[in-house]
Amino acid sequence: MLSGMQDWPLRVGRLIDHAAREHGHRAIVSRWADGRETATTWAGVRHDAARLAATLRRIGVQPGDRVATLAMNHAHHLAAWYGIPGAGAILHTLNPRLFHDQLEFIVNHAEDRVLLFDAVFAPLVEQMKPRWPTIEHYVCFDSAEPAPGFAGWIGTDTAEWVEGDEREACMLSYTSGTTGNPKGVLYSHRSTVLHALAVLQPEVFGMESRSVALPVVPMFHAACWGLPWASASVGAKVVLSAVAEPAVLFDLMQRHAVTAMAGVPTVWLGLAQHADAVAGGAFPPALKDVLCGGSALPRALIERFMGQGLRVSHAWGMTETSPIGTAGGEPWNWDSLDFQAQVTLKAKQGRPPFGVEMRCVDLGDPAQVLPRDGQTAGALQVRGPWVIQRYFKAEADAVDGDGWFDTGDVAILHPDGTLQITDRTKDVIKSGGEWISSVELENAAVGHPAVAEAAAIGIAHPRWDERPLLAVVLRPGMQASAQDMLDYLATRVAKWWLPDAVVFVESLPHTGTGKISKKDLRAQFHGFSWN
Ligand code: ADP
Repeated sequence: MLSGMQDWPLRVGRLIDHAAREHGHRAIVSRWADGRETATTWAGVRHDAARLAATLRRIGVQPGDRVATLAMNHAHHLAAWYGIPGAGAILHTLNPRLFHDQLEFIVNHAEDRVLLFDAVFAPLVEQMKPRWPTIEHYVCFDSAEPAPGFAGWIGTDTAEWVEGDEREACMLSYTSGTTGNPKGVLYSHRSTVLHALAVLQPEVFGMESRSVALPVVPMFHAACWGLPWASASVGAKVVLSAVAEPAVLFDLMQRHAVTAMAGVPTVWLGLAQHADAVAGGAFPPALKDVLCGGSALPRALIERFMGQGLRVSHAWGMTETSPIGTAGGEPWNWDSLDFQAQVTLKAKQGRPPFGVEMRCVDLGDPAQVLPRDGQTAGALQVRGPWVIQRYFKAEADAVDGDGWFDTGDVAILHPDGTLQITDRTKDVIKSGGEWISSVELENAAVGHPAVAEAAAIGIAHPRWDERPLLAVVLRPGMQASAQDMLDYLATRVAKWWLPDAVVFVESLPHTGTGKISKKDLRAQFHGFSWN
């Protein structure tokens, strides 16, 4: 029997309607690439979104068409996040840092019809135009002036949102494709709204109407961790910056009393170093929440933040999980833990909110589900209403018959449900039938004061199957020998984990999203011989 309750499709237009109606005066600040700063409100963003939606429909964009953005974080981009799905179309956020071949592949695969781009990317757009035959309209939309940018292009007409099923797609985001071609993850209105509500939870990012959020995570990567949607649903003030330099962020935080900043560990590291340089280590006083994810947050940084009274939310996720899979909220017994135990817990990746289920299976035999014993590492699988079912245009599901999606991460699950990421399946090093975590080796190695960056890969070994090789980039002007590195690691990792070779390199290969490309590093050391 169906219920007697209202069938209210969970569509993203309702988030911005709510923000405009209930929190219409709350400010949205943009710090543009040219240094200017402007402010609008949630009501203003809704107004611009509606005008954009009307214009898209006027030029013939149909429901389900893909409209791409190539843009940094600013209020026009935010308006596009709502205006494109508002026209029934699909918001496709393009990552400008990808390689040209990837950008060519992605746009053609997505068959984008319109591209909204920032002026700084005009040279890139000019170069790519011949390779993007599906794009009919190019619009430079980041100008803070009324013309000839975005504000000049969109009409004065307003529109209601195109309505439809909540399961229709509203957003498309491609993974960086560390192996093979990038793959498109197609979020639905429903998955996006449910995910936004999860982001609000106190044990996830704890967003509320008095929050002042500064998402440094780009709006073109992993759906900006859902923050543009979640902020609307509570009417938080949002500060958007088109640049991520620590000095700019620090200044914005001070002047706008930012309470929560969201960024990857390198962004936080940069901010901490800036605080040391200009403020004796102190962060702007309104800051309360450190929202961090994308890669493991180093323990030393967590210790520092917590020591300064900040609350750390260390989240794990991926494009395929919208992206929040887990977050590091405080468990029930938090107050009974001593400081070091609290830091240890925060260095792990937290627990899943309602809506995400997870398990680990044996790395060699996926049929074997592993116990949550806090010891056994296995392949991490997840499922839930904001987890991928099938990649865009793929012919088969990306999940098994029970809906489990293999994340490609290697993890340990603890008895209290805490997730501990130890590696990626492709990177874990198999030695004598046991697994060595490349990530833990790297984390230990970068603790050495002379080391700027380090990466560990498995090299085929006649006796042990594989043995670790550690590639190290030294800080400018610093020295360390292979033996220094081994001595340093000896007190930090198990003896049988110690690399059989330490190689010093000028630089390490990176992907378009700034992560170390192990695939390229392995290619570089292909044929390496132990003798
Ligand atoms: P891509 O897959 O394109 O590199 P994602 O941003 O989707 O981009 O990356 C997701 C991956 O990042 C995860 O599968 C995991 O390996 C890593 N990751 C994300 N958050 C964390 C974290 N808190 N700790 C360790 N690794 C993380």
